Amino acid sequence: GDQREIEMRFMPYTDTQLLVIARDITQLRKLERLRKDFVANVSHELKTPLTVMNGYLELLEEPLNVPPEMLTKALHDMTLQNQRMQKMVEQLLTLSRMEGQSQDTFTRKVVMSELINQVIQELQPIIAAKGLALQLDVADGISVLGNEEKLRAACSNLITNAIKYGKENGHLRVTWLLVGQFAEFSVEDDGPGIAAEHVPRLTERFYRVEKDRNSATGGTGLGLSIVKHALEHHRSYLQVESAPNQGSRFFFRIVPELLVSE
Ligand code: ADP
Repeated sequence: GDQREIEMRFMPYTDTQLLVIARDITQLRKLERLRKDFVANVSHELKTPLTVMNGYLELLEEPLNVPPEMLTKALHDMTLQNQRMQKMVEQLLTLSRMEGQSQDTFTRKVVMSELINQVIQELQPIIAAKGLALQLDVADGISVLGNEEKLRAACSNLITNAIKYGKENGHLRVTWLLVGQFAEFSVEDDGPGIAAEHVPRLTERFYRVEKDRNSATGGTGLGLSIVKHALEHHRSYLQVESAPNQGSRFFFRIVPELLVSE
């Protein structure tokens, strides 16, 4: 709870006196607990796909006894689990690399319109595969002073989620525009939406809304924690407007670096 934890140390001072050193270690303990939780979570998340793969590998020890359709399913599931683990490890490495960067490393002018257009270009194949109608509204002259890798990760993860959770043949709207004195990046989808009770927890590492948790495939629950981290670097934070069956809008606001008049 809110109780503080104090560590006391006693040292001889003079023949008749003791020196008492008291240290508030509440914060230290909290960090230790977070680190332990994190290691436990990572282990747990990796265990699930490994267990699935082990099960199939045992089955495949005698491949001739396995019906062909089972064989196909086994290989398919193992591929998915493997991809999921790979994604998880990549994202954990991204998080750890980002945490290692101090606030002012790699701070330069980032031309957001270029960055967003590149991200869209990269994601074009999966946008097309899902039959999404893309509405792109990206202002040219608004840049940001910041870390390009982090801004790219923030935009890319948000757009990827909108594609992943969006409705088949639905709409996807991506904007980068001035809103008052701020520049706003926004991604809107017409997917399942998110109930209010989940919203405050979305950026926790490994947090997934219940129904997604159960699916063997699906994501890692790390994407939005990367977004959160990337935005903190820019003194910005992730905002969400969503309701069940109403789609979602994920956005963040950031102080623009300079405005170029067109
Ligand atoms: P994941 O790898 O599971 O997508 P994220 O950290 O990116 O992990 O997202 C956490 C959870 O938030 C997801 O599991 C999903 O339940 C929910 N979520 C994220 N983006 C959307 C979205 N655009 N629409 C609906 N739910 C979303």
